[in-house]
Amino acid sequence: MSNGVESSMKIFRDDQADTKYIKNNNILILGYGSQGRAFGLNLRDSGLNITICLPPKSESTKAAGKDNLPTISPTQIDARYDFIIFLIPDHIHGEFFRQYIINHPLKNATLVFAHAYSIHFKIIEPPADSDVILVAPHGPGVDLRSKYLDNTGLTCFVAKYQDKSGLALKRALALAKAIGSTRAGAFLTTFEHEVIGDIFGEQALLCGGLSELIVKSYKIMIQNGIPPENAYLETIHQIDLLAALIKNHGIYGMSQRISKTAQYGMLCISDQIIDDNAEERLGSIFEKIESGDFAHDWQNEYKSGLKNLDKYLKTLKGGQIEETSRKMRKIMGAKNRK
Ligand code: NDP
Ligand code: MG
Repeated sequence: MSNGVESSMKIFRDDQADTKYIKNNNILILGYGSQGRAFGLNLRDSGLNITICLPPKSESTKAAGKDNLPTISPTQIDARYDFIIFLIPDHIHGEFFRQYIINHPLKNATLVFAHAYSIHFKIIEPPADSDVILVAPHGPGVDLRSKYLDNTGLTCFVAKYQDKSGLALKRALALAKAIGSTRAGAFLTTFEHEVIGDIFGEQALLCGGLSELIVKSYKIMIQNGIPPENAYLETIHQIDLLAALIKNHGIYGMSQRISKTAQYGMLCISDQIIDDNAEERLGSIFEKIESGDFAHDWQNEYKSGLKNLDKYLKTLKGGQIEETSRKMRKIMGAKNRK
């Protein structure tokens, strides 16, 4: 990835990170899901002492056992551990921290996060004498693991929030190196920028915006007599191709690789989809995240039993496009990928 181009963000690579800062330490990983498994296996294969922490009835216990990683239950967390890596769902960090960590003797363990949510929005108030750092891979656990194995590495963000030891960044970089990320590059950021960028990106574009545009475009086509399969093939089925063109060549580069008709059409309607009002609404979405109102709503939703989330998911699952998608995935032989 190093090709002489300057980034305004500092990027650390293998030769600027040293695993000696974590070498003989006991590292506890909370959770063994997408990131937990990838961190666990990559850190172990980098020669580190790893233990996985899971509640007794956790579904993930079998997977950790199969991978030959030692497990403990949350009540066994104690002062043995020098690093505690939070790879359980963000919205339960607070509860877990208050129940199993804050009131136990912890030897100033360094607290490590793969997303800044619970620290930035003060769902966790870390002890003043612990280092608090971020090592956030830019992709799901399967990619973090496969890119470790093929030696390319998955890029990540690193950041420090509390630096009691004076070694916080060195520790974050050591972990980034041991999961393989400094082979590709560890980008230095802040907890604030990581979490706000991540949540805004997923809401406005990657998860929320994109899905909503797909559903609405599909609906208009169906309402106007286009057969469902045809509508599917002209929307969802081609998303990855266009996304790859944009990622590999930029938006202009994508425009150079589509038909002239598509090119003209794309440019002459663009301000009809995202007009000034839509831009204003995007700004409001950003403000809601930045102010902490979104995190506040989400934690309340969790406390009240996820009733609204269940309702939203039910509506999504029952949507017209889902039935066509299921059918077309079978017809087109789409690969299932976690
Ligand atoms: P997953 O949902 O894949 O895994 C969560 C793990 O935590 C599972 O092993 C689950 O066990 C366990 N768990 C659930 N509830 C509890 C509990 N109450 N106590 C202890 N363990 C519990 O999470 P992710 O790997 O997706 O996310 C982990 C962190 O990584 C988050 O901070 C996330 O923001 C961050 N991250 C995730 C990325 C991704 O692509 N997935 C990318 C970058 C960062 P069980 O099987 O029993 O439910
Ligand atoms: Mg995200």
